[in-house]
Formats: sequence, structure tokens, C-alpha cells
Amino acid sequence: MGRVENKVALITGGARGLGEATGRLMAQEGATVVLTDVLDDEGQALVDDIVAHGGKASYLHQDVTDEAAWADITGRIVAEHGRLDIVVNNAGIVLDASVEDTTLEGFQRVNSINNEAVFLGTREAIKVMKNQDPKGGSIVNISSIAGLVGIENLAAYNASKGAVRLFSKSAALHVAKAGYKIRVNSVHPSYTWTPMVQHLGDNTGDRDGFFDALSAVHPIGRPGEPMDIAYGVLYLASDEASWTTGSELVIDGGITAG
Ligand code: NAD
Repeated sequence: MGRVENKVALITGGARGLGEATGRLMAQEGATVVLTDVLDDEGQALVDDIVAHGGKASYLHQDVTDEAAWADITGRIVAEHGRLDIVVNNAGIVLDASVEDTTLEGFQRVNSINNEAVFLGTREAIKVMKNQDPKGGSIVNISSIAGLVGIENLAAYNASKGAVRLFSKSAALHVAKAGYKIRVNSVHPSYTWTPMVQHLGDNTGDRDGFFDALSAVHPIGRPGEPMDIAYGVLYLASDEASWTTGSELVIDGGITAG
């Protein structure tokens, strides 16, 4: 308990899936959690549930691709809570298509949400964190094993997640050398049983079969559960990780180990 006590955390894409698990866990560990998403009903219902269980949480509508909205969101958080300690750039979408089947529009949409918005969120977080008193914070960017290895049906997604991996290192070096007391790390989950992956299963026409296939390909024998990833994010967000920056935390059931 209390691993992020008294910290204020913004989690994008927080209405469901990995964002939901991270929000629930951080609230449980003492943070004041602000969840943002475009799924307003789900986001508000989740926040109501976290609060009903004794957590400190609120919900704000945010399309992460909207540059101007970023300053508005961080401004509202600072006005309400006084500071911003943790930003988890988690919002993301997947496009189930090979390079040959990917349209330019699809490629740009995926990269706008998964890559450009991570840049916007990181830049905005730095702006706030370097100027607060005491200064500093932790930025956690959600990449994927698709930021480490190629997957033939995820061309645009691969491109976006690979970009997040090295962008996070660039930002980590800059803020460390500038003395801002800000850390930036990326997280690389493998297939985790969230609505995103359940939908990929539906695309195969056999969701249960897809779960079994995922279980078969992961050395640990099952796909991830959202909390498997949330615990990694919690570590990077907390002061336990005070010497960890520019790192890539792989949480993947062993799939990229071989
Ligand atoms: P999900 O689809 O269950 O949840 C993603 C959330 O992001 C949704 O609530 C969605 O509304 C929100 N979102 C999408 N576009 C948005 C936008 N423009 N602005 C604001 N919010 C937006 O997916 P998930 O599995 O929970 O994925 C979360 C993150 O983890 C994503 O970045 C994803 O790429 C990454 N990831 C997931 C897996 C996995 O297997 N589930 C593996 C590796 C990485």
C-alpha cells in the first residue's frame, strides 16, 4: 500500500483495458488518479467505482491527438490538484493489417494516436513537471513487444510502437541531462487480454480459439492479464524506480526471450 502515495497521475486511454487496470492499481496505492479517454460513459463509470472503493479519481474527456487539449488537461489537473507527478501515455489503437493491406490513412491514424500523441503527452508533461515545486516526475510510455520485434499483420502498429521505444530514450536523455528530475521509460507488453486483443480474437471468428492460441505461443502458457502490465507501470511511476530512465520494461510471458 502507498507505493505512489500523494502523487497525482494522469493516465490516457484510461477507460478500459490496461489504462483501467493501471488506474485501479495506482488509486489503490494512494495516488490521485485522473483518467482521460474518448469513451466518456465507461471512463466515468470506472471512476465512480474507484471512488466507491475509497480511491481518489476523476475523469476528463481527452482525444490524445488534439494538441491544444493537452495544455487544457494538464492545466485543469494542476489547478485542481496542485501538481502532476505521473503521466502514463497509454491510449492506443491497433490495425490488423500487413504492409500490403495498410492504407496511408490507416497508417497515419495509428501513428497519430500511438506515436504522435505520445510525443505530445511527453512534451506537455515535461513542461509541467520541470516547473513545479518540488520539480520532477515520471513519464511512462506504453509501447509493445511490437516495438521490439516485427509482427507481419501489424505493420502500422509496429512502426508506431518502435517509434515510441526510441523517442522515450531521447526524451529520457534530454530531461536527465537538463536536471529536471524527470524520468521517461517505455513498457513493452505482449498480448494481454483487454478489449483490444479480444477484438483481434473476434476478427479471427473464434475468440476462445484465439485465447488458446495465445496461451500456446507464450512460454508462461497464457496471455497477459491487465494487472500484469499495471504492476510494471506502477514500479516505473513510483520512487522505487528513481534510478531507472530510458529503459524498456518487457512484460511478455517470455515470448521475446527465445
Ligand atoms: P483497449 O482498446 O482495451 O484500450 C485503449 C483505450 O484507449 C480505449 O479506452 C480507447 O478508447 C482509448 N483511446 C483510443 N484512441 C484514443 C484517443 N484518440 N484519445 C484518447 N483515448 C483513446 O487497449 P489496451 O489493450 O488496453 O491498450 C492500451 C495500450 O497498451 C495501447 O497503447 C496498446 O497499444 C498497448 N498494448 C496493448 C497490448 C495488449 O495486448 N492489450 C500489448 C502491447 C501494448
